[in-house]
Amino acid sequence: MTWPHDCTRPLERLANHTSFRIGGPAEWFAEPSSVDELVEVLREAARLGIPVSVVGGGTNTLAPDRGVHGLVVHLGRGFRTIDEVSPADAPTAHVVCGAALLTQRLVYLAAKSGWGELETLAGLPGQVGGAVVMNAQGIGRFVQRITIVSFDGTVRRLTREQLRFSYRYTALDPGIITDVTLAFPKVEPSEAYERIRKAFSYRNSSQELRLPSAGCAFKNPPGTGAGRLIDQAGLKGARIGDAQVSQRHANFIVNLGQATCDDVLSLMEHIQRRVRQEFGVVLEPEVRMIGERVEL
Ligand SMILES: Cc1cc2nc3c(=O)[nH]c(=O)nc-3n(C[C@H](O)[C@H](O)[C@H](O)COP(=O)(O)OP(=O)(O)OC[C@H]3O[C@@H](n4cnc5c(N)ncnc54)[C@H](O)[C@@H]3O)c2cc1C
Repeated sequence: MTWPHDCTRPLERLANHTSFRIGGPAEWFAEPSSVDELVEVLREAARLGIPVSVVGGGTNTLAPDRGVHGLVVHLGRGFRTIDEVSPADAPTAHVVCGAALLTQRLVYLAAKSGWGELETLAGLPGQVGGAVVMNAQGIGRFVQRITIVSFDGTVRRLTREQLRFSYRYTALDPGIITDVTLAFPKVEPSEAYERIRKAFSYRNSSQELRLPSAGCAFKNPPGTGAGRLIDQAGLKGARIGDAQVSQRHANFIVNLGQATCDDVLSLMEHIQRRVRQEFGVVLEPEVRMIGERVEL
């Protein structure tokens, strides 16, 4: 089979695109560099009846060991742009980011430019598009509009009134976000820098950053922390294969070296069972499977 662009290649290992370092091959893997290229690739996939999935920074993603059927889209370099579009003397900075921009690049520029309140995103791995899909760290409150390309290749612009953000979730029709406009109050750059520096140091002291993971495995249930329940159930250090509940942060599952997707899923099931038995609480996964739905 041939694709209209050489941005598509077969059998790309997804372990190279996930922070867990887990995942078999994508049957097809596309890295388009422009919206036009993306639209062409999606139209071709639709014409051929090939299922499409998306990976951004892969920092909240679990990929199956046996790989993913169909096309996995990973936005290329052309989607890492960032432009401040508001006048220099405006009280609010409006910033247009390509969806593949690293969230930490945005934070770095905020510290230099005096874009306020970005300390909430300090140290958040992954890309801006992935952060919007996950409403990671409540990024939704800054979002003014997005551009999203549906899997049939239709390009749509949505304003914040058309988006619904909730805890670690944004309601969106299936598609690929290509750019995001964010608004931040302007503050003195020295103040932005100091707040971001403090947030970094708190994150470094509280999170598990030495071993591969996808951050928190489960969402916090109402009124309590998932990590606290997992810890109180005595599960810190619990291990299946090379997947282990972090000793440092009980809601992180880490890859000790050779963990498989099945190891992680089995450990997640074990955690869910134990927490349900002990506390009657059903933990909902925060980590997302790519390619196929697996019921936990
Ligand atoms: C060490 C560590 C610490 C973390 N700390 C936090 C934290 O403090 N708070 C927090 O909220 N999260 C945290 N996370 C989770 C993760 O970093 C965030 O959810 C992040 O914003 C995901 O971005 P990503 O680009 O890696 O998304 P991915 O993992 O690539 O994708 C996440 C979801 O978004 C979809 N997606 C990605 N890009 C696009 C796009 N352009 N268009 C459409 N769909 C897309 C994917 O299909 C998937 O469903 C942490 C993760 C790690 C590894």
